[in-house]
Amino acid sequence: MPTYTTNPVQDPEHVDPPAGSAPASASTSLHTTLTHPLSSHRDLRRDEFWRTIPAYAQAGAAEFGDHKWQQRHTVTSVAQLRATLGTLVPESFFADLEAGIAHAPMSLRISPYLLALVDWLAPLSDPIRRQFIPLHTEQQHDHPMLRFDSLNEREDSPVAGLTHRYADKALFLPQPSCPVYCRFCTRSYAVGNDTEVIEKMKLPATAARWEEAFAYIESKPQLEDIVISGGDTYNLSAGHIETIGRRLLELPNIRRIRYATKGLCVLPQKMLTDDAWLDALTRVVELGRKLHKDVAVHSHFNHANEITGFTEDALGRMTERGIHVRCQTVLQRGVNDSPAAMTLLVRRLSYVNVHPYYVYVHDMVPGVEDLRTPLHVAQKIERHVRGATAGFNTPAFVLDAPGGGGKRDVHTPDVYDRENGISVFTAPSVKPGKQFLFFDPIASLDTEAQWRWTQPTQRREMIDAALG
Ligand SMILES: *Cc1c(COP(=O)(O)O)cnc(C)c1O
Ligand code: SF4
Repeated sequence: MPTYTTNPVQDPEHVDPPAGSAPASASTSLHTTLTHPLSSHRDLRRDEFWRTIPAYAQAGAAEFGDHKWQQRHTVTSVAQLRATLGTLVPESFFADLEAGIAHAPMSLRISPYLLALVDWLAPLSDPIRRQFIPLHTEQQHDHPMLRFDSLNEREDSPVAGLTHRYADKALFLPQPSCPVYCRFCTRSYAVGNDTEVIEKMKLPATAARWEEAFAYIESKPQLEDIVISGGDTYNLSAGHIETIGRRLLELPNIRRIRYATKGLCVLPQKMLTDDAWLDALTRVVELGRKLHKDVAVHSHFNHANEITGFTEDALGRMTERGIHVRCQTVLQRGVNDSPAAMTLLVRRLSYVNVHPYYVYVHDMVPGVEDLRTPLHVAQKIERHVRGATAGFNTPAFVLDAPGGGGKRDVHTPDVYDRENGISVFTAPSVKPGKQFLFFDPIASLDTEAQWRWTQPTQRREMIDAALG
């Protein structure tokens, strides 16, 4: 079990930005933008950081380290957040949040662990707060080209909750809930509770729907690789983890499976105290080894502050059991959009044996325009990250082409009109002959280009020019 000292880490150099100021944006140099006091990737927090939160002040390490306690205290409403934080933040913060929720595609859901890692003395600039707690004052108008299900997952789904876009791999969504709800979720069309802005497509966790998916997978000999996502596989029971894993591994055509989960980031405690679940996963990994098939876990960390002593201990247990964990990160403005923040994240992931696999450019989904970055920011950060550590721990920076083109290297647009923020991608092995458009956030463009986007005819002309 982890050991903890009782002195919370304080940052002597932390400067609180003026209230309401915009979070740090893209143009920052390598050593100046750490938003966290711990600048080394090896300095993992092992203090009792949660005790500064009024509602958790009495919780000991054993309680806070228990996944059931974490689940019981998960915050899903403004009233609960207010009761948890007490007077740590002013009342105006909660009013801002109420208004933010009214315009958000994802409902509120955050674990005590992540909540306690937020710097509540500077919540506006905190990279964890920004990902999970929507504030109306930072929401921006959507780009006119945004839409829900921007990746066209439903169109590429032969069975509800099974997206078959690439020749040899498919994405299976067994159920629609997660241990946390990320503001920026690309699957906001189906994941989580209905909100004021969107009624979700229903993906019930029924045996009948799963069987339909397995039958389809079995009927397509070219399919070798299944991503089990969601929703989040953390929210599947131990029994279901094993049933799904066995069922897929026993199909002769399937060579590789991956369980996708945000859970390691949100609730690493589960790997330390939910033995039944970890044992079930371990048995699937062992079965894979016996059958000479690959089983991996795909996690999702976006900032170095999300990786603590709990994470190190959780990953330690998984490593002992031979469970390979990769990471898929989402690039977000004011969260990880600087070379320094991304390099620290990549090094820290590598340090705890998580293999950085992808960094995704934020998808063009509505309601989270303040989190999107232009393509050139991804290109710039990639140049800085490459070379900072082992090549095999250097993530590929990709853009999931809107409309179903699949993942494309950020350095490979066929055209990039930076002035108007329009890039064009092609994907010969996925959708031959088609062009895919990506649009930088309008707020990142100069004022003339911003004006052009308000004019429908100019819009059409800019897009036609880029398409050539
Ligand atoms: C991302 C994704 C996959 C897996 O792609 P990899 O590049 O192999 O990680 C499979 N199917 C769909 C629909 C996806 O979006
Ligand atoms: S954990 Fe993944 S699927 Fe769930 S809300 Fe976050 S991004 Fe969406």
